Amino acid sequence: MSTSGMETKEHFISIIEKFIALAAVRLPDDVMSRLRQMREAEDSPQPFATKFPAQKAIYDSYFENLQKAVELNRPCCQDTGMLQFYIKAGTGFPHLNITGEVLTEAVRRATASVPLRPNAVNYFDDKNTGDNIAENSPWISWDIVPASSQMEITLYFSGAGCSLPGKAQGFKPSDGLEAIIPFVFDAVCGLGINACPPLLVGIGLGHSADIAAALSKKASLRLLGTTHPHPQGAELERRIMTGLNSLGMGAQGLRGNQAVMGVHIESSARHTATIACAVNLSCYIHRRGIIRLDSDLSFELPTYQGASL
Ligand code: SF4
Repeated sequence: MSTSGMETKEHFISIIEKFIALAAVRLPDDVMSRLRQMREAEDSPQPFATKFPAQKAIYDSYFENLQKAVELNRPCCQDTGMLQFYIKAGTGFPHLNITGEVLTEAVRRATASVPLRPNAVNYFDDKNTGDNIAENSPWISWDIVPASSQMEITLYFSGAGCSLPGKAQGFKPSDGLEAIIPFVFDAVCGLGINACPPLLVGIGLGHSADIAAALSKKASLRLLGTTHPHPQGAELERRIMTGLNSLGMGAQGLRGNQAVMGVHIESSARHTATIACAVNLSCYIHRRGIIRLDSDLSFELPTYQGASL
């Protein structure tokens, strides 16, 4: 590699290392704004005084924790998870051939510099590698965008209590789409309590369990406030969200009327003889960062207003 090629690579690594640090410490603007709305909407005006006594106090402790993370420049949760990158790569982005190496090296360096908890354990030797670099780790998923010279990278820190568990199941078409409702509610009630509610519920609908699982992850990465493009998909999101909030789970599972930050559905067509559904949960520490890079490696951070690297 030429000297200028090495310099470009170092510069790219440095940008991603700093982006990882930002996303580990600060929640995206849409998530912060949703949590503030939920605190206001929670049905307990004074702590320890009403039907859902501790809920506002829990939100206040969340905000204090998040503020301290920013002030002290430390990760906002001890479990910095498994790092997952979802890339929309323009075919004309000139650094495609080094991007995988850059992300991997940036994770290695960020594990020491942020620091991130080393979480990656290879299955068959059962050892923690100590730097979050292991088999298929970090996880890198690619979408190709024709006729673009930009790259958009979504980074997600996938924690053990929230989005690493999940469920997928196939149903008979004769069961109807309604069959997914008890499945989703069972998944949220069974897994959600370990996931530090309020939750973001990603639901994938596909023709097979593996496609549904991939779509459920895509759903959980969508910006809060967005809806499924089909009116009936959007209506199903709204109805499931209302139903889940009515269960009374509340923040941290300690009773309240605001258990769910959002319900997002992503779908593909189904086979005439199949329905498949998957559920992916995210916790209130929804560390989903987005960076958009131009071909000269200038960048913007659309979900972190006022932030720089
Ligand atoms: S569920 Fe989320 S907030 Fe709770 S410990 Fe895991 S990563 Fe942290």
